[in-house]
Amino acid sequence: MTTTLVTNIGSLVTNDPAQGDGTPLGLIENAAVVIDQDKIAWVGAAAEAPAADTAFDAQGRAAIPGFVDSHSHLVFAGDRTQEFNARMSGRSYSAGGIRTTVAATRAATDAELEANLVRHLHEARRQGTTTFETKSGYGLTVADEARALRIAAAHTEEVTYLGAHIVSPDYAEDPAGYVDLVTGEMLDACAPYARWVDVFCEKGAFDGDQARAVLTAGAAKGLIPRVHANQLSFGPGVQLAVELEAASADHCTHLTDADVDALANSSGRTVATLLPGAEFSTRAQWPDARRLLDAGVTVALSTDCNPGSSYTSSMPFCIALAVRDMRMTPDEALWSATTGGARALRRTDIGVLAPGARADLALLDAPSHVHLAYRPGVPLVSAVWQRGVRVH
Ligand SMILES: [Zn+2]
Repeated sequence: MTTTLVTNIGSLVTNDPAQGDGTPLGLIENAAVVIDQDKIAWVGAAAEAPAADTAFDAQGRAAIPGFVDSHSHLVFAGDRTQEFNARMSGRSYSAGGIRTTVAATRAATDAELEANLVRHLHEARRQGTTTFETKSGYGLTVADEARALRIAAAHTEEVTYLGAHIVSPDYAEDPAGYVDLVTGEMLDACAPYARWVDVFCEKGAFDGDQARAVLTAGAAKGLIPRVHANQLSFGPGVQLAVELEAASADHCTHLTDADVDALANSSGRTVATLLPGAEFSTRAQWPDARRLLDAGVTVALSTDCNPGSSYTSSMPFCIALAVRDMRMTPDEALWSATTGGARALRRTDIGVLAPGARADLALLDAPSHVHLAYRPGVPLVSAVWQRGVRVH
């Protein structure tokens, strides 16, 4: 196998505080990276770089770790253009819109679902995403949830069982019966394909007791909890996530001081994953990232890519929103979209460019990562390596 030297990097974000300027981003100017097979072998000043079999001249561009998109819903069929159009004409969002996607997903073939997933993965990769998590939740039958996870597991190791997305329309008169299914037969069929268990803890979806039942049943099968929490209203989701040692509480838009304290007191065990694409696409109140960061909470940024409430696969777009509207600094937003996402997936081998880490990196047609927020909407990602292979 060959080694590759990526050199003449104008500004390199390593996310390793031991490197470079000693900040959390571990910035190195005039840098180089050596890739050995699928791992990073060396990072440092270009002038000190060791020899490698092949070389790539970055021509002064910035380089960053590949984005870690720790929250998406990509196993689906159909789209919801009309719902979006109606909402932008004044109608408010409710969880019920998910039923439209459930009907389309159930009607799709396996090949159609997989092709749609792959199309979105390629779209995300062109924008610098090298790791993504994705979920079931548009099948809501034993067979449809299991096939969604089987399809997802062929493309990522970060697969989440979300049978508890909404109460299945088939159980509209018997939500308790649906929780029994999600925690019983459906869980048994899905657990072999999944690493995580998730629940939409929200008015109109699942209440605190139901969410607890779903998460504890999943944990008993070896799945690690993560929670859709406090998106549309105040509620028990965040504190339940912390209590059950969930890896992540996702959305965190409506938080009490006690919710913020609980996340902070988890000492990073439960990450607050903010999903500004959802607030953008539903014209909702922004999560207050500044409040969380100032309290010491570990924050991740993710797309929530789904056809209903956040149909973007672009991590750079989410960074721009987070900086403009959620009071994050450009450095914090970049960290949260890379290492923050890795923390939300309890991973230390991604989101960082240090010897031994996975060789996932993106080059930007820009001198600095700050341009991701400074030049919103501009396709700045010019090259992507995933597991040491140039994929874009
Ligand atoms: Zn979601």
